[in-house]
Amino acid sequence: MLELPSQSTQPSTRGICFVLSAPSGAGKSTIANALRASQKNLFPSISVTTRLPRPGETHGIHYHFISKEQFEDQAKNGELLEWATVFDKGYGTPKAAVEQQLAEGKDLIFDIDWQGHRQIREALPNDVVSIFILPPSIEELEKRLTNRASDHVNEINKRMDAALNEISHWREFDYVIINNKLDIAISECETILSCERLKTKRQTFLTNFTNSFSR
Ligand code: 5GP
Repeated sequence: MLELPSQSTQPSTRGICFVLSAPSGAGKSTIANALRASQKNLFPSISVTTRLPRPGETHGIHYHFISKEQFEDQAKNGELLEWATVFDKGYGTPKAAVEQQLAEGKDLIFDIDWQGHRQIREALPNDVVSIFILPPSIEELEKRLTNRASDHVNEINKRMDAALNEISHWREFDYVIINNKLDIAISECETILSCERLKTKRQTFLTNFTNSFSR
């Protein structure tokens, strides 16, 4: 009997780039963490940034914290797949790490802004699947931003303006999810991941199998 290999244990030949973007306060990090916990083959892309670590953040896990000079050098030398200035700080995605992991069949999750999404989509058009997370309302977003103990009033106002700007780009993404209920938003993301992984173009491992019985 010819038996097909199990798709759930068969990574795509090449990994997928899942880009998750959202205004600050929409619940993006919580959703990203839940996805990483539930999806065995999903790994975070670790960005470089020139901002300082926040309490609880570790170099090499949450970000690679680098100097402005290092950042400028990496951008100039083409070492970043995409980069942008967010809140006056540099943020970017190291190219070599992404290429290596995609080639190993690992799916990567990117927590980047709309500017990064535009660039990465252009750089890796066949690999990117993007999701934009919206908060349930602007009032709720403002409430969530105000409740963040780590940010001062000026910082909150700045983040609110940036959030509204970020939201204006939702149409550029493949999928949009309103984070009204966290568990539903997470399961919607999981559904998208499953569907994308099952796309015919990503089932390259089947080629050898089907070649064996083609007439
Ligand atoms: P935070 O400083 O709060 O960690 O991140 C601020 C913003 O920068 C978030 O919107 C986040 O998505 C974005 N960001 C983080 N890493 C990158 C990156 O590598 N590239 C781009 N373009 N944006 C990033």
